[in-house]
Amino acid sequence: LEIQSVSLRSLINRAIEAIELRTFHHGVNINNDVPDLELNVDSERMLQALLNILENAIKYSPPGSTVSLMGYTENNQKIIQIKDEGIGIKPEALPHIFEEFYRSDSSRQSDGTGLGLAISQRIIKAHGGTITADSVLGEGTTIIISFPK
Ligand code: ATP
Ligand code: MG
Repeated sequence: LEIQSVSLRSLINRAIEAIELRTFHHGVNINNDVPDLELNVDSERMLQALLNILENAIKYSPPGSTVSLMGYTENNQKIIQIKDEGIGIKPEALPHIFEEFYRSDSSRQSDGTGLGLAISQRIIKAHGGTITADSVLGEGTTIIISFPK
């Protein structure tokens, strides 16, 4: 890893820009509430990790819905949340979504290989961070990334 000090805001802005066309075609709104937290990360790897998550948030959401990006500091952790109002994930599928090639049955109508989140998790773990998911079927999903300060 090439660790450097980068601003979370600039990373998020790059990710949003990279995925702008897909966001537009999908008719999803992006709500960017990310503060200017400083992160010590490999910016290219972290950008990839964020893009995979953002891509899912858009792909598994209906037109007109909103994807919200948030960041804050809590208990000596830097936390990033990506919240969508999409199809959600069944409780029995939730423990598996970070596994390579896993795709839940509800997502098989859209393209994918089941690698995006496995890659994101690998990158985040390599930085000493964690990634978890909260989801309610039919209501939406929140991906939570946290880094020790
Ligand atoms: P790709 O390799 O193209 O990313 P993928 O999107 O299917 O394919 P992952 O990104 O690893 O693979 O996600 C794994 C599975 O977790 C998805 O197939 C989907 O079932 C579920 N999932 C991930 N993110 C979301 C989300 N935001 N909303 C609903 N389901 C999700
Ligand atoms: Mg994906």
